[in-house]
Amino acid sequence: MSGDLRRASRAALDLFRRAERVVITTHVQPDGDGLGSEVALAHWLRREGKTANILNPHPAPRRFRFLEKDIPAPGFDPEAAERLLGTADLLAVLDISVPARLGGLEPWVRNFTGDVVVVDHHLGPSGFEGVDCRDTSAAATAELLHELLAGWGAEIVPEMATALYAAIAYDTGGFRYSNTTARTHRVAADLIERGADVHEINRQVFESVSPTRARLLSRVFGEFHLEEEGRLAWIALSGDLMEEAGAEPEDVEGVVETLRSLEHVELAILFKELDRGATKVSFRSAGEVDVNRLAGRFGGGGHKNAAGALIKQPMGAVVEEVLAAARESLVQQVG
Ligand code: AMP
Ligand code: MN
Ligand code: MN
Repeated sequence: MSGDLRRASRAALDLFRRAERVVITTHVQPDGDGLGSEVALAHWLRREGKTANILNPHPAPRRFRFLEKDIPAPGFDPEAAERLLGTADLLAVLDISVPARLGGLEPWVRNFTGDVVVVDHHLGPSGFEGVDCRDTSAAATAELLHELLAGWGAEIVPEMATALYAAIAYDTGGFRYSNTTARTHRVAADLIERGADVHEINRQVFESVSPTRARLLSRVFGEFHLEEEGRLAWIALSGDLMEEAGAEPEDVEGVVETLRSLEHVELAILFKELDRGATKVSFRSAGEVDVNRLAGRFGGGGHKNAAGALIKQPMGAVVEEVLAAARESLVQQVG
């Protein structure tokens, strides 16, 4: 652990010890890492006698609802934001470095007058005022949180082990992506010893495909483009297609990773048309293409091999521009 992280960890523990009411949040369209980390932290805080509640910008996708057994992770509503953030003395922000990724919750968080602790593994710097526990070498926020909890003297009970394991399994694609390290496997082994049920967690996270999703995927994969001698793969997903299929954003999760898994592909891009003329772009790379930098050109970010951007323009207006930048990043790659 670096000196900066050690100091941040101590400062965070101080704040948690002093706090009575804690609210925990993560990014828009919460994922396995955000939710699993939230649930594990909430369990620890409750066991420490604190009031700890989760409040997110959106509800949990169906495949992560099993994590909400004891601790609900509701989506944003103004009444809950007022009630929870109005009375909390500490806010824990997990798996985000950019306040804009809080979506509808962002103004409430900006107005929050209590202390803030961030636990995150994205490439920084953190855009939040407060204590920043950041480790960009951690495969998942949950991998970092596991280390922090150990330093805070927390006992990892089976509910926490399950949540942390699900989070790490999700962010590493089942221990397959390039963020997976020996440390990731050591943490996973520890979590299994503490009661994480590997088979059951993986069944929930990776093998609970709804018929809607299966039908949507069969259409989505009919539309992929390959160019640059098969090094660049992309799909532009219209709002109409999503609507016709009755699909939720969570139903297309994993599509961009599957695109990346095509042989020869070095850069995969998924465009999703959102309402109100906005476009979500997901970037994944294999090897040396730095998609954090590529997404950064469009106001987004993330990690070197996985990044995203939310562009406030209609999909038709952004596809060509993003693809031009993408081709350029492949050329730089060769040079
Ligand atoms: P996604 O394509 O949404 O699955 O995101 C890929 C990675 O980039 C995840 O680690 C996200 O947390 C991160 N990410 C996505 N969108 C943004 C954004 N607008 N700004 C910064 N990081 C992002
Ligand atoms: Mn995340
Ligand atoms: Mn993460």
